[in-house]
Amino acid sequence: MRFEVSKVLDAIEARLTTDPALARAVVDLSEVVRYADLDGGRPASMLRLGLVIDALGRHVAEENVPVYAVVPRSLLSDADLTSNERMVVRRWADDGVVEVVPQLDDRVLEVAELLGLPVLTRSRAEQFRGQRAWVDEPGRLLAAVPGAGGPVLVARVGRGEVPPVGEPSPMGAKLLARVWRCPESNCSSFGAAVDSDSPFADMRTFTSPVAQPPPTLRAGAPTCPRHGTRLTDAGPRPAVELLSVRIDGVIRQRFVVAEDQPVVVGRAPENGIMLGQWLTEDARKWISRGHVRLALSGGELTVRDISTNGTGIRPGGSTDDDERITLARDETRTLGPTDLVELYAGVHVGRAKMWSTGGVSQPASVMAEAPTMAIRKFER
Ligand SMILES: [Zn+2]
Repeated sequence: MRFEVSKVLDAIEARLTTDPALARAVVDLSEVVRYADLDGGRPASMLRLGLVIDALGRHVAEENVPVYAVVPRSLLSDADLTSNERMVVRRWADDGVVEVVPQLDDRVLEVAELLGLPVLTRSRAEQFRGQRAWVDEPGRLLAAVPGAGGPVLVARVGRGEVPPVGEPSPMGAKLLARVWRCPESNCSSFGAAVDSDSPFADMRTFTSPVAQPPPTLRAGAPTCPRHGTRLTDAGPRPAVELLSVRIDGVIRQRFVVAEDQPVVVGRAPENGIMLGQWLTEDARKWISRGHVRLALSGGELTVRDISTNGTGIRPGGSTDDDERITLARDETRTLGPTDLVELYAGVHVGRAKMWSTGGVSQPASVMAEAPTMAIRKFER
């Protein structure tokens, strides 16, 4: 059973991010692990994070939806978690896939505000009143409650609104325009790029400058949320475009293309976005291992065909086959704001904001490998 739990925790880990472009909601991990009524189990369990992540996926009807988890340091030694769970959450902290803070304070609300994301919480808007005005806006606070097919998210204010796709607040946009550096040498979020002279250069995980979480503001100054130290400005942050892979009407994956960091998409690229698992047999035969290379340079998003069979462009998302443009191998084209890249019929890549819904009624669960005991409550 322990082995199965580890597999679930691995599946959950793949859905954790502090990348402002990818996160879809913010959670306080110390709160979520204590939702005992979701499964009727132990006082604290990391598997509840998986239940809540699944609920978010169903809520926005999208596959592979990631969350931004804030972890008060005390959780790393919480005796109600198993030793394995504590070990896993410490590893997540060291790798920067979750954000550890000495005190929670209002960090969850701050992240939600800076990034324009909903908060997954049981707290009612009244409990936050006075701290943030927007907690009364529909869909900004979502509570996970037991439901027939697993937990469902209910809006604390308003009824059932799907949270808007995150737009950073003006302050958030200002903070995210810069790269920040923490003076602490072991800072996974705001650490220096790898110092190749150090014998330990390869041993630390540092968040890429384009994926840095938002700093916390202390007395108006950008500060490291983990170390409480003043951050220094290390220059402009590279621009990013957020793209989605949409296959037969279902959004499978969002990904970021950053300035001068091209991303390859294909059936099974060595490094890049792998589509193979979601393709029909015919599509798998047609689409090359690495099929297209997307690049952002000088604010222009370009696509280059690197495939055997060629790539289609659908200008403005047109479904008219007469308007479809074909790129031959090594041809490059600048993508207009609503142009779609077509790797095969129904297999599309485009800017994420083109699609307001993920188009899937039952997203794949991170709990698929869970021991039946852990989710028995839903199998009755
Ligand atoms: Zn730091």
